[in-house]
Amino acid sequence: MKFSTKAIHFGQNNDPLTGAINLPIYQTSTYQQIEPGVTRGFSYSRTENPTRKTLEEALASLEDAKYGLAFASGLSAINTILNLLKTGDHIIASNDLYGGSYRIFTKLYQKFGVEFTFADTTKIQEINKSIKKNTKILWLESPSNPLLRITDIKTAAKLAKKYKILTVVDNTFATPYLQQPLKLGSDIVIHSTTKYIAGHGDVIGGGLVTNDQKLYDELRFFQNAVGAIPGPIDCYLTLRGIKTLALRVEKHCENAKAIADFLSSHSKISKVYYPGLANHPNHDIARKQQKDFGAIISFEIKTDLKETKKFIKNLKLFTLAESLGAVKSLLSNPATMTHASVPREVRLQSGISDSLLRISVGIEDKEDLLNDLKQALDKLEVITCKTETVK
Ligand SMILES: *Cc1c(COP(=O)(O)O)cnc(C)c1O
Repeated sequence: MKFSTKAIHFGQNNDPLTGAINLPIYQTSTYQQIEPGVTRGFSYSRTENPTRKTLEEALASLEDAKYGLAFASGLSAINTILNLLKTGDHIIASNDLYGGSYRIFTKLYQKFGVEFTFADTTKIQEINKSIKKNTKILWLESPSNPLLRITDIKTAAKLAKKYKILTVVDNTFATPYLQQPLKLGSDIVIHSTTKYIAGHGDVIGGGLVTNDQKLYDELRFFQNAVGAIPGPIDCYLTLRGIKTLALRVEKHCENAKAIADFLSSHSKISKVYYPGLANHPNHDIARKQQKDFGAIISFEIKTDLKETKKFIKNLKLFTLAESLGAVKSLLSNPATMTHASVPREVRLQSGISDSLLRISVGIEDKEDLLNDLKQALDKLEVITCKTETVK
């Protein structure tokens, strides 16, 4: 079965009781037992719930994985994977990372004696150099946030495997429609389903998939032990989003391509980060491992932060908000928003300037989006100098 068919049919059977074509929202905490210890497969909704189970099966099917687990947020999925570690273990992570992942690594797990090395994972020798005796996980984000760097997942996972290191890929930006990291050799794939998978900006959720039964059993144990599970309504909304994932992502990508081309040829723009552009440093590997280039674009305007703020104010269709992957176009300034928890010097070092803007291109009409960006750029009269030099 092909992706868009699976997204609509897999696990999403008609309700056997009534024939309803959508799975009911099983809004229940507990389940009647037939006799003590004998259940119909469900005993308590932290452990299992039919609506959540369906979402977990659907998530697995999108990544062609054997097992899936759903969580209350992307970060609770990430936390559950980190539960596999113990004091003294070491993680190598991409240095251009979702701010919340950086925060849970450095503010929480470091406290328990887990060590982290942040490396430029787009360079395989940098990963190789960071490997230690106690390295347990290679944590990759590709495309990365917010600079859209691409790591060669297949080569990185192969290296990790040689040292018995687990490769985890945060596939939130690409979605399973554009990239399936398990097929490239990774062991676990995580998603913030809040973004493209649910897709409408109305629910927080997370998920992970794996083909390894031992890992799955352990992660499922933690899921129940910790209890960061999504409620049935959130599961339902996410399942509803999944049905149109392929359609939405195609339109997101089409719009993003047009905007990236427009921005990169605009005289007032100094830098555009988009893996679909031929001059993007990882363009070739993006072409190879992704079906398309996604719909997140970061850029810098040839001006200072004050004028950049004016530009933000003048936009009408791009809402200034954290998050991404919704049908509605969003815009953010990573330094003050999503990446505020990353120290400024660390940000600058990894190439995130104070005035960098990131847009999540929605599925509105392409011309309307282009016109909106154009009018806001036209209003920027004074172009002084570039903010900071970004290496
Ligand atoms: C949003 C995001 C997360 C965290 O997910 P939440 O659902 O907000 O907890 C993790 N990784 C990436 C790449 C994200 O964009």
